[in-house]
Amino acid sequence: MSAARNILAIDQGTTSTRAMVFTVDGEVVASAQRELSQHFPASAWVEHDPEEIWQSTLDVCRQALRDSGPVAAIGITNQRETSLVWDRQSGAVIYPAIVWQDRRTAPHCAHLKRAGHAALFTRKTGLLLDPYFSGTKVAWILDNVAGARERANQGQLAFGTVDSFLIWRLTGGAVHATDATNASRTLMFDIHRQRWDEELLRILDVPSSMLPQVHDCAADYGATRADILGVSIPILGVAGDQQAAAIGQACFVPGMIKSTYGTGCFALMNTGAQVVQSHHGLLSTVAYRIAGRTSYALEGSIFSAGSSVQWLRDALGIIDNAAATEPLARSLDSVDGNRPAGNGGVYLVPAFVGLGAPHWDPNARGAVFGLNRDSGVAHFARAALESVCYQTYDLLQAMAADSAVAVASLRVDGGMVANDWLLQFLCDILDCPVARPQVLETTAMGAASLAALQLGEHTSLGAMGDHWRHDRTFTVRMSAASRGELLRGWHAAIGCVTMPNR
Ligand code: ADP
Repeated sequence: MSAARNILAIDQGTTSTRAMVFTVDGEVVASAQRELSQHFPASAWVEHDPEEIWQSTLDVCRQALRDSGPVAAIGITNQRETSLVWDRQSGAVIYPAIVWQDRRTAPHCAHLKRAGHAALFTRKTGLLLDPYFSGTKVAWILDNVAGARERANQGQLAFGTVDSFLIWRLTGGAVHATDATNASRTLMFDIHRQRWDEELLRILDVPSSMLPQVHDCAADYGATRADILGVSIPILGVAGDQQAAAIGQACFVPGMIKSTYGTGCFALMNTGAQVVQSHHGLLSTVAYRIAGRTSYALEGSIFSAGSSVQWLRDALGIIDNAAATEPLARSLDSVDGNRPAGNGGVYLVPAFVGLGAPHWDPNARGAVFGLNRDSGVAHFARAALESVCYQTYDLLQAMAADSAVAVASLRVDGGMVANDWLLQFLCDILDCPVARPQVLETTAMGAASLAALQLGEHTSLGAMGDHWRHDRTFTVRMSAASRGELLRGWHAAIGCVTMPNR
């Protein structure tokens, strides 16, 4: 195979920027990574320096290309919702990137809710009126940077999520585009009609002239200007990070779910051509749009997954590293594997920053229940890992209830899935198989797959799915009685931290 069939995936995340070169069969040829700084200029404000995003992208691409040799195309995946505004003429960004975690627009969202707009936004965009999404971030920049609104009204400014910004810079300002998955996270995009929505833009007071063109995920996004990476390379695939991970996990059939376990956990369920409106606090979003056909997803997030393990390590100092949780949790396994007593009745509810889907309680705080004189480090480690599984159970129950599709199996990725004990317990609690792929870099792999599809290296999504390679599938060992007892303990614990009127 000639090296020029390889694909460069750019994965621009919140904590780092990575570049990975894949063969069209999904083998990793080269990879490079740079940390990315986050700035916290005020309480609950989170920003990136756009020039650091750009420079780190250049650095990792150049390094990966040096190691891999020529590539045929680029795929881009990115932290979603993070918003940038730049001058079309000079390319200069007018304010730092406002990161998805930033809460500064909470008052604006509250104002829009009081004005009665919540149902409209949810119906059209599948999202909630929340500072998490881009719409109110763009409005904030226009309202707070001197002269910005006037320049925007004159068509001088461009808005973009990180994918758009990178495409603009990589093409030397020739292309202002995004893909349908990133657009679907802005609160400005009608996911049913697949276009920017004038009514929502009017309510948010964002001029439509600022918005990028929305393309399919596998499409022609222009080519890099030759001087930037040493040679002109076509950009042929784009998707937001969670959607790219679902593509990398080949979740192409309705009912398939991927769940990514990093600091937090993000689960996406493919719902096919249907937009499923959640009654359990999940988001409806675009899973991917290929050849003009949109597939949708239900999405839910858990705020604390790996961060509970970090808490054991950094705040309590009771483990040296994350991997130490595995032998500790296993040390409590009961002899016959069927008795739940392994956890000693100890439960951790990791509501350190409130609870996400399906509980949605921003005011809940964490708690440990069931301690006795025998409780020790192993119980804490085990309770932290178990809590990830119980939270996934609650999330998947919500997905099943909303979609009326029973969960048949789960594909997992992210830093935590190195932990075999965690995955066995997860599968036991969910009562369904849990599959771990060989390539855990599913996000970058998804972006590369999209570019390969556009390049003609894959004939269809199904053909892309053939490249998903299984590492290990965990199958259910726990009895229904044990599962029921453990879940009762968990629900009793979580009920205590989500008391009404707190
Ligand atoms: P992110 O992308 O959010 O930075 P990663 O996917 O890199 O996160 O995963 C890192 C998280 O996974 C950390 O919170 C860490 O505590 C946790 N983690 C890593 N290895 C293990 C392990 N073997 N067992 C349990 N947790 C782990």
